[in-house]
Amino acid sequence: MNRKYRKTVIAGNWKMNQLASGVKPFIEELKEHMPKTRSCDVVLCTPAVMIPAMVKAGKDCRVAAGGEDVSKFEKGAYTGEISADMLADVGAKYCIVGHSERREYHHESDSLVNEKAKALLAKGIAPIICVGESLEQREKNLTMEYIAYQVCAALSGIDGTQVRRCIIAYEPIWAIGTGKTATAEQAEEVCCEIRAVIRRLYGARSARAVSILYGGSMNAKNAAELLAQPDIDGGLIGGASLKPADFATIVAATAQG
Ligand code: PEP
Repeated sequence: MNRKYRKTVIAGNWKMNQLASGVKPFIEELKEHMPKTRSCDVVLCTPAVMIPAMVKAGKDCRVAAGGEDVSKFEKGAYTGEISADMLADVGAKYCIVGHSERREYHHESDSLVNEKAKALLAKGIAPIICVGESLEQREKNLTMEYIAYQVCAALSGIDGTQVRRCIIAYEPIWAIGTGKTATAEQAEEVCCEIRAVIRRLYGARSARAVSILYGGSMNAKNAAELLAQPDIDGGLIGGASLKPADFATIVAATAQG
């Protein structure tokens, strides 16, 4: 973390777990465990139907609401889609794009991820752009090359001012939901490379202003070591974000340094 230049962000990804009726009780329990002083921004990304409940309950606990996906289209005849305008209208401040589950199950391409990020920026929502290599790519030593490609593709056409509103989440696919966490060294190495890519594209000032998160089986036990790395500015957390005490422990782990 480097709080001098950029925000620390702890973001939960509830995926298709929980119900809107579960938001208030969750936040009430979370409040009991949250550290009194906060060294980071906290966000819970949920399905769109839960965002109004999160906005309402989250105010009490300084938890922002985020979406898990967005349409690339602004408006129109796109049955089932949720636009960036709709997310902004109900109070979402952040939205995940390019999660590996969307890339795998919905065949989302890097150019679609880029269009979604731009749609969010146009409505003042911070995109949390996920990138990450497969186990096969890691074993073939292709991680850095692939991550650099994904970051460049996701940021294509985004200018130097807008890029500072973007958050990049490095999520090795082999670590998501598997209980296999990248070591702090592995995670730092890739997050540092992501910053180097942003530096090449936008210069040093922008590169040091962009928050880069690690995601992939981050939990109450391993968070402190991961968050102690200089280029890891927070976490994108799946499973552990569904457990109030564990999520609060991860938030508390940002107090170091
Ligand atoms: C995720 O889905 O973004 C994620 C990191 O999940 P988990 O923490 O469960 O590995």
